[in-house]
Amino acid sequence: MRIILLGPPGAGKGTLAKLLKEALNIAHISTGDILREEMKNQTPLGMEIKKLVESGALVPDEIVTKIIENKLTANKNGAQGYMLDGFPRTKVQAEQLDAILTKIRHPIDVALYMEASVPVIIQRLTGRRVCKKCGAPFHIKNRPPKKQDICDLCGGELYQRPDDNEETIRKRMKVYLESTAPIVDYYHAQRKLVKVDADKESEILKDELMQLFNDQGKASHKSGHGPLKSS
Ligand code: ADP
Ligand code: ZN
Repeated sequence: MRIILLGPPGAGKGTLAKLLKEALNIAHISTGDILREEMKNQTPLGMEIKKLVESGALVPDEIVTKIIENKLTANKNGAQGYMLDGFPRTKVQAEQLDAILTKIRHPIDVALYMEASVPVIIQRLTGRRVCKKCGAPFHIKNRPPKKQDICDLCGGELYQRPDDNEETIRKRMKVYLESTAPIVDYYHAQRKLVKVDADKESEILKDELMQLFNDQGKASHKSGHGPLKSS
């Protein structure tokens, strides 16, 4: 299954992706994670984009599209299935992605729109902590680690992303509304959009989605239609 995760920062795309990855056994491709890895390793690209990412601005379209193109063509991801998390984030990126997918002849199945309300978003992002070593997400209230500031999975140290402060969160929300929100319509027009209430807890969302994918899978098997009904 090939899925795009859409929604504002704090909708829980990364957390849901990690749960679905296990359940569906598909790759999780997060442009945010890839860019943070570049910054951590202080590669030329990492140094070039650091100021942009830490201020909540977007990285240029050409850079992220190239990263995604490499991911989708270098291994079997393009055919086997994946979740794209944090990409596309602009109309241009959505069009460039379509061009790549047409070329490799593996269109996406679903654009999952995770709609979340502003107070929930702010609460999630300000309380978020991330593992320095493995990237696992935690939250000081909603998903606290067993030992304070230590990752349950790998024992790594938890930290707060520099862009998870109120001022930068507000900037990211503004960028989201201006640049990313319009692509919801783009996928709606393609009949790929499935909307979910992302104020719900990730575990619950995951269960609901697995149910939906199963039901739709059975239905499409009978009718010969696509894997999912679009909204
Ligand atoms: P969130 O969804 O919580 O905002 P991400 O980890 O997806 O966080 O992204 C963090 C930052 O990485 C973004 O604010 C932006 O600077 C950069 N980034 C990630 N994906 C893209 C993209 N597709 N296009 C441009 N910039 C991106
Ligand atoms: Zn860890």
